[in-house]
Amino acid sequence: MKSRNILPLTALLTGLLSLSSCEKAQPFLDKMGEALNRETPEEKARKKVDIEEKLAEAIPPPPEPVKMEPVINKEARVSVLGYHDFTEGVSKNDMIINVDTFREQMQAIKDSEIPVITMQQFLDWRAGKKDIPPEALMITIDDGWKATHNLAMGVMKEYEFPFTVFLYKNYVGVGGKSMTYEEIREIARNGGTICSHSVSHGFMGKKGGRSQANYEEWLKTELVDSHVFLEENFGDTKAVVKTFAYPYGSLNDDVLRLTEKYGYAAGFTVNGEKVTWETPMMKLGRYIVHGKKIANFEPALNFGTGRVTSSGRKLITESRGEDGEKLPPLITLYPPKESTIKSRMPKIEADLSKLAGVQADSISMRVAGFGRVPHIYDPATGMVTFQVPQRIRLEECGVQLSFRHAGNRNSETIGWSFKIDKVAEYFNPENSEPRKPRELSAVEPKEEAPVAADDN
Ligand SMILES: [Zn+2]
Repeated sequence: MKSRNILPLTALLTGLLSLSSCEKAQPFLDKMGEALNRETPEEKARKKVDIEEKLAEAIPPPPEPVKMEPVINKEARVSVLGYHDFTEGVSKNDMIINVDTFREQMQAIKDSEIPVITMQQFLDWRAGKKDIPPEALMITIDDGWKATHNLAMGVMKEYEFPFTVFLYKNYVGVGGKSMTYEEIREIARNGGTICSHSVSHGFMGKKGGRSQANYEEWLKTELVDSHVFLEENFGDTKAVVKTFAYPYGSLNDDVLRLTEKYGYAAGFTVNGEKVTWETPMMKLGRYIVHGKKIANFEPALNFGTGRVTSSGRKLITESRGEDGEKLPPLITLYPPKESTIKSRMPKIEADLSKLAGVQADSISMRVAGFGRVPHIYDPATGMVTFQVPQRIRLEECGVQLSFRHAGNRNSETIGWSFKIDKVAEYFNPENSEPRKPRELSAVEPKEEAPVAADDN
């Protein structure tokens, strides 16, 4: 046993002797120091607490987490388009539209960049669960004509637009120009939502010669049986959603009351008007697009918010001048619209420097998962910025920015979203560091503020 201790002691002495002359002695000295300074666990613990207290004093506490709330834009507006039947030939009446005209309209929707949302997205927005873009469209097709499957569905697939079909029970799978059950199922598999349009397609708002009790009994059948029928036959497709379109838009207070009573989430009329946060759920307007004298399509797409400025340039999307030249968007965004970034803590930026007369106190920014956020606006540079303070948990993050400027009398709301590549972020944690300020692009002259004709 003793002999084992002799060797280290010898080494120690040799080491000490060679100290002054040999550089190799340093690691040896370090070891010695360690041995002499060995602390008891209690001492170590005390020291640790001490260091932690000092650190806590030196580093400010992390910012309070921003209150999480669903980002619901109550200023958003929706245009609901209503179609009926389609033809490859010439439209003979207003309820039948030529399919090429229909395709042109879908192309116009695509060009307008107004997003087309699903029935469920719309319901979720009104229920305060999920947000929708500030301007959105919904496409509905009534009755269940075979051409809905044979002509319209292909166009909707081409444009990848979701749509809703309102079917009435007595016109499902009855031959002639009605759709078969299988055709309806195919619609459900191709972006179609299936909703009720009554049992008999009668004028529900007309009591006729019925007693009040008989009338209400009849309305109950129209409302309840039609939905039960859809659930029984197509419920397994998960495409049935409990909303109702009143045949001919015919309704009265009894109809409204009973539609709600029998559990419908929404009722659609044929009054061409925008649906807002305030629109009664049982009385939602739709723009019925005519086939012969093309009406209602243009008004549906016109949200009148001046997305296009006086020069013809759009705020956040590219546009084309009269001679076909490309006009870049007026507002530069970071992270760019529909981009994928690698950081979960980006600095969100909107460059408003090309807009004249931006009102600083009118600016408000909302970020998905954070709600309304405390942005910073620098009037000198025109930059609106917000440094995301915590890692974004969403895969896709939406931003909404509202503001007033001299180019538009109404307040402007722009919305965009970006995606976060979480895997890339995980492997590159330094990506989460706040970005350094981006170099501003070459300064362009400001947009001339239009001369207001009147102040109304
Ligand atoms: Zn109908």
